Amino acid sequence: MSDSKRVPILAANWKMHKTSQEAMAFFDAFLPLVDGCSGREVVVAPSFVALEKAVERCSATVVQVAAQNMYFKEQGAYTGEISPMMLQAAGVKWVILGHSERRHIFGEGDELIGDKVKSAVDHAFSLFLCIGETLEERDSGKIEEVLSRQLEKGLEKISASDYERIAIAYEPVWAIGTGRTATLDQISEAHGFVRKLISGLAGSTVAEQIRILYGGSVKPANVKEIMGLADVDGALVGGASLEPESFAKIVKFEEN
Ligand code: PEP
Repeated sequence: MSDSKRVPILAANWKMHKTSQEAMAFFDAFLPLVDGCSGREVVVAPSFVALEKAVERCSATVVQVAAQNMYFKEQGAYTGEISPMMLQAAGVKWVILGHSERRHIFGEGDELIGDKVKSAVDHAFSLFLCIGETLEERDSGKIEEVLSRQLEKGLEKISASDYERIAIAYEPVWAIGTGRTATLDQISEAHGFVRKLISGLAGSTVAEQIRILYGGSVKPANVKEIMGLADVDGALVGGASLEPESFAKIVKFEEN
């Protein structure tokens, strides 16, 4: 986090956890813990059914609300999908796209993710574009090839001026939900590489401004050292974001 111009983002991805009532109970406990917390953005991504209530509960607080996914079409015969218009109407400002669980469990490919990124920027959302290699890809020396492809395809339909809406989340698949965090060297190397790729895609000014988050078993005990790395501008957190006290400690990472 060497460049103070990049405001850090601490983001919670609740995945398929918490009913709407449980989400409200979380906010009752969490919001007082982060009240007045400045110099960072705090984003929480609950399930779709909790979005409207979450937006209402978090208005006039430091917390912004994200959706965990979004389809790229505005409406139509797409059973089970959520449109940009529906999220706009719910008051949502952020979306997570390309999460590894969407890619690997639900078979989302780079092409589809690129369409979603384009649709999200066209509908004025900010977004997290998630990228990351599997263990097999890392072990076979394909990490740079995978990250390049996911970034290039994910961002190919947007223009340089759209990048201000985008944060990249580097999440090595083998570190998500496994308790196995990437080493600081591995994180530094990947984030430096991602920033270099962005420079090639959109120029050095965009690359200096874009925020790159790390995700993969971030918790209160490791967040401070991860956030201390030069090219790390935030964290996307799954498991450790489910408890108010734990996520509040992550949001206030300097104090750990
Ligand atoms: C995630 O869901 O993006 C994630 C990083 O999960 P966890 O923190 O549980 O590894």
